[in-house]
Amino acid sequence: MSLRDKLLWAQVPLALALLVVGVVAVGTLGRVGHAGQDILADNYRSVLAMQRIIEHLERLDSAALFIVAGERRRGLELADAHLQPLEVELKVQEDNVTEPGESEATVQLVRAWARYRSTYEAFAAVETPAARHSAYFNELAPAFRDAKAALQVILALNQDAMVRKSDALQRQSRRVNTLMVTAVVVALVGGLLASSSLTQRALRPVSVLSQAVRRLGQGDLATRAVVQGEDEIAQLARDFNAMAEALQRYRRSSLGELLQAQASSQASIDSLPDPVVVFGVEGGVLNVNRAAEEVLRLSLEGGSALGQVAPEVREVVERVRSHVLGGRGPYLPRGYEEAVRVEAAEGDRWLLPRGSPVYGEGGGVVGATVLLQDVTRLRRFDELKNDLVATVAHEFRTPLTSLRMAIHLCAEGVAGPITEKQADLLYAAREDCERLQGIVDDLLDLSRLQSGRVELEVRPVSTEAVLEAALAPHRVAAEERGVRLAMAQEPGLERVEADAERLQLVLSNLVANAVRHTSHGGEVVVRARQEGERVRFEVEDTGEGIAPEHQQRIFEKFYRVPGASTGGAGLGLSIAQEIVQAHGGEMGLSSQPGVGSTFWFTLPRTGGAESAPTFER
Ligand code: ADP
Repeated sequence: MSLRDKLLWAQVPLALALLVVGVVAVGTLGRVGHAGQDILADNYRSVLAMQRIIEHLERLDSAALFIVAGERRRGLELADAHLQPLEVELKVQEDNVTEPGESEATVQLVRAWARYRSTYEAFAAVETPAARHSAYFNELAPAFRDAKAALQVILALNQDAMVRKSDALQRQSRRVNTLMVTAVVVALVGGLLASSSLTQRALRPVSVLSQAVRRLGQGDLATRAVVQGEDEIAQLARDFNAMAEALQRYRRSSLGELLQAQASSQASIDSLPDPVVVFGVEGGVLNVNRAAEEVLRLSLEGGSALGQVAPEVREVVERVRSHVLGGRGPYLPRGYEEAVRVEAAEGDRWLLPRGSPVYGEGGGVVGATVLLQDVTRLRRFDELKNDLVATVAHEFRTPLTSLRMAIHLCAEGVAGPITEKQADLLYAAREDCERLQGIVDDLLDLSRLQSGRVELEVRPVSTEAVLEAALAPHRVAAEERGVRLAMAQEPGLERVEADAERLQLVLSNLVANAVRHTSHGGEVVVRARQEGERVRFEVEDTGEGIAPEHQQRIFEKFYRVPGASTGGAGLGLSIAQEIVQAHGGEMGLSSQPGVGSTFWFTLPRTGGAESAPTFER
């Protein structure tokens, strides 16, 4: 049965109650109406007949008095006019006998009337006035009184009955009133109770359903609405259950997939031999891998995860973290010298920090991953290489000096005369010796810088003088190549604090490179300007530029761009970078092949009172 039918059925008791009340009302009202009519038909008619008969009788009596008075003709006319209607009324009364005792009274009346009438006829036939007089008083008057008395009896009988019946009617109508009120109340209460209980039964599934919906909304996906039947609510409940089922399945499956994804990502970072720490956007540790737990003794349990880590490691990790979370992109180490030492059971380990941002859906940084690459072996190799280079360079110095001296003496003819051809060969040998000496000097310089054995003489120096000194040695070469040299210095930046000689070396190296790699008609500009707390130097050229794949490695020792035009041994930029870093600065470049390159470096702008940057790292 549909919900509509059920609700319609629920109205049936009320409708039935209304019907019952209606039937009762019609019945009782009909009865009361009948009772009134009965009084009219039964009694009022008799009363009317009696009154009319009395009227006629009195008229007949008047007619008799007329006759007694000698007005015989008028008397007889009057009597004739009333005789007939009286008899008619009498007939009516005979046909309308309704009360107990009325029948006998009517018989009495008919008899009395018959006597009066015969007496009247006898009276009318009397000839003499005296006899008429006596006949009237002696016979007719008593008959008149008898007839009137009989009439009065019937009249009283009917009037009494009317009073009685009217009383009864009044009582009955009071009863009917009570009955009607009772019927209405009973029908209304019964109908309402039945209707509301039926409506409640029809709508109970709605509350079951709404409870289920509420529980589902609170997250209880196992909830179901138990509703029997075939109506619309049962259908709705079935649809609801199907929806809850689908939701539960979805929740189960998505949770499962999520857990699996999390487990596999945890397994993959655990499989890395190097420690990995994942930070949230607020900087808190979100996750670590097993290597991090073992090597750094870092654990997620307890308050601050980084608290247990050795201070120097913590400092490095925090630096990388703030670099990445600060939105400055991935953090790449500049070299092995950034590696931090960690004590371990099997000997010291060197860890090189790298950082990469974790991007959120909107593209913003929502976290950072810090990986500490174990570079112990690589660092040893690097140290070994540096040592070897330093030793070789050192060992080369003395023989090279005597070689140069010997070639020089021979070339100058000190050791005896030489032919022109021999002189050419000796000049070529001397040039190569000079280059070799330069490389050996550079290598020694570099190894001294790297090992921290160089003390910087930091003092205020004139920016203009430094820039000028950097350009001066290259003016001739630039002029030869048709390259314009220019310098630009920001006003108010008259002095910088640095080791003048080395700063000049750095700039000079950069200018030399720029001139070497710029073709005819190009330009090389050297600039110095303020940048926050630092001074920024730039050497910009309009030369051939450097391809992006080489830009990363260009500061490495001995690295030269393959196929590049002549140059040194690939040490110039390494030395420059070492010197800049020794000052506490940074160095980099931006370059576009075919357009030009800009090499830049910054130096901290230390005030006079502050100590000079130390060289120890
Ligand atoms: P070198 O002493 O051999 O020049 P550097 O370390 O100074 O070594 O430079 C390394 C390499 O970088 C060079 O071989 C050169 O190819 C490239 N390079 C340096 N400066 C520039 C520049 N301004 N334009 C193009 N290439 C450059």
